Amino acid sequence: MESPWYSLMTNVSVVAFVVSVWTQLRDVFERFGPRAVEAGFGAVMGLGAIATMLFPVQFAPGIFFDLRACLLALAAFFGGPIAALAALIPAIAYRLWIGGAGAPAGMVSMTLITLAASFGHLALRRHGLRIARWHSPALAFATCAIGLLTIAFVPIDPGASDWVPLMAARTVLLFLAVMLSGLALTHDEELRTARRENQIYRQVIDELPDSISVRDPEGRFVIANPATATLLGVSSPKALIGRPGAELGIAHPASPPHPGDTHWTFQQAVKRPDGSTSWLQTLEVQLNDQSGRPEGLITHNRDITDQKHLELELDERQRVLAFAMAQMTDGVAMFDHSGKLLFCNARYQKLFPLTSDVRVPGANIRDILTAAAERREQQVGSSPADVAEWIDEITESLHHDAEEEVHLFDGTWLRVSTRPSPDGVSMVVVSDITRLKRTELELLNVAERLREEATTDALTGLVNRRALDQRLEIEIARSLRSDTALSVILLDIDHFKAYNDTYGHLAGDACLKAVSQCLGQVFRRPADLIARYGGEEFLVVLPEVDAETAYRLANDYRELLAALALPHQASEFGRVTVSLGIAAYAPGQTDRSAIDLVGRADEALYAAKSGGRDQVSGWRRRFDVVPRSLRVVH
Ligand code: GH3
Ligand code: MG
Ligand code: MG
Repeated sequence: MESPWYSLMTNVSVVAFVVSVWTQLRDVFERFGPRAVEAGFGAVMGLGAIATMLFPVQFAPGIFFDLRACLLALAAFFGGPIAALAALIPAIAYRLWIGGAGAPAGMVSMTLITLAASFGHLALRRHGLRIARWHSPALAFATCAIGLLTIAFVPIDPGASDWVPLMAARTVLLFLAVMLSGLALTHDEELRTARRENQIYRQVIDELPDSISVRDPEGRFVIANPATATLLGVSSPKALIGRPGAELGIAHPASPPHPGDTHWTFQQAVKRPDGSTSWLQTLEVQLNDQSGRPEGLITHNRDITDQKHLELELDERQRVLAFAMAQMTDGVAMFDHSGKLLFCNARYQKLFPLTSDVRVPGANIRDILTAAAERREQQVGSSPADVAEWIDEITESLHHDAEEEVHLFDGTWLRVSTRPSPDGVSMVVVSDITRLKRTELELLNVAERLREEATTDALTGLVNRRALDQRLEIEIARSLRSDTALSVILLDIDHFKAYNDTYGHLAGDACLKAVSQCLGQVFRRPADLIARYGGEEFLVVLPEVDAETAYRLANDYRELLAALALPHQASEFGRVTVSLGIAAYAPGQTDRSAIDLVGRADEALYAAKSGGRDQVSGWRRRFDVVPRSLRVVH
């Protein structure tokens, strides 16, 4: 038998060897799934336990001590129940096969340690915990404690003194073996987890459409994903590794843009390999080592070319729109559904000089209108109720298509057009129509004057023949409808040709004026219509006047003219005289017409002329309208 110390050290070597063999073999088992790993782990540990039993320290005949407990505890604690069984069964079988006095106690000890370690494993699993470093000394402690307890069952001669230092050494070695092997396995597990996570990160980064790269402090690529290779126009990420970014036109900041920054973003335009320009949104993150020294730079680039083009296009459109708005001769304003001014151009403010300061985005239409009323920019009713009603009306009109003409304090005329959109925003366009409005008013005046001229006789200011014809038709129709009397008087200046010849044409005109003015003094009712019928002939239409009254009025006129005594040397009367013919329809007479009535008056006038002039004559072929008593005889 070799020295017991030699056996113990051999045991330690076996444990170390088995643990390292497992770390190499594990990758093979990983291919067959987690159960295969557990079973394989248990089997390797079990074989290791048997191997330790090949180099035992014999305390007494048939009583062996070795480090098999270490491998069983590792199998159960790191591998779980399957690994525990895979290790324990061959180990127990071998121990029984060796036999000896310590076999039963050895079996109990192996089983207890395996059970305890399995419980530890299951407890961690139930709580979802991963194996930590401090678990290894704990496992080592538990293994040693159980090992020592089971010594009680070993039939050793208590009087023998040489086993105590050996047992102490064995226990210390067992503790160290479990703890160090446990730490080695934990470390291996951590490395594997890190490797797995690393693979996942790698895959994520490789699949990312965004470019991600890491460069060392000198600007050389350390890591780059395929998107970076594509962006820089190289065949693969590998072709980038070790290459300085400057070679590919990538600037490498020597220090953060602002001292103390750990990351920063900016946008940059880069030339693509095909000559086109791409826009990148770049994030750079300083990569430091554990002591805080810069170790490199992580760069994340996102292609924002499309977004950038849209932004540039939008900017351009806004610029054009703003220019167009500023240049417009019309004022433009937009109000939201609550009446808040969202936008207006400078022209809009200029068109309302007294309230331009309140017509700013954010102001409410009601406040704007209140200011307009208070500052008397617009003519609004004087009472507060009128102002309130006006404000309500205009605020309400924002929600409808509306067109309004506004007269400002300084005589300016504005046309305000409102067009609401379905989303509640109203567009208001204000145009200065002052010139248009003035022209319109002038045109109206001209039209009015023309209308007057078309119906008025220029010399006398009386209704002319054209207008008379229309008015007479109307009066005939009206008299028929109301079945009332209607009279006309046709009068003609006597010897007017001779007047002209004597006094001249201009004097003739003055005479015509004088005669016509006298007519207005006699036929004064608003309903009476006095018209110049021809050269020196006049027709007076008298609605609701019967023949007798007409006759009286005609005679009144003749007398007024006589009183006026306008000289007329060429006349046998020595003054201007007229002859008057009267025709009338009485109520009940249904057969009426303008031609007939004037024709009768003409006949009557003819009678007056032939009767000696300066007299009134009635039409009396069918009925004599002139009472005998009123006849004037010269
Ligand atoms: P009688 O008593 O029969 O009516 O004779 P008279 O001369 O008045 O009638 P006549 O029809 O022969 O002449 C009418 C004249 O009136 C002829 C014309 O020169 C004149 N006259 C017509 N219109 C105007 C006018 O606007 N101004 C002037 N000054 N004369 C006019
Ligand atoms: Mg005449
Ligand atoms: Mg005449």
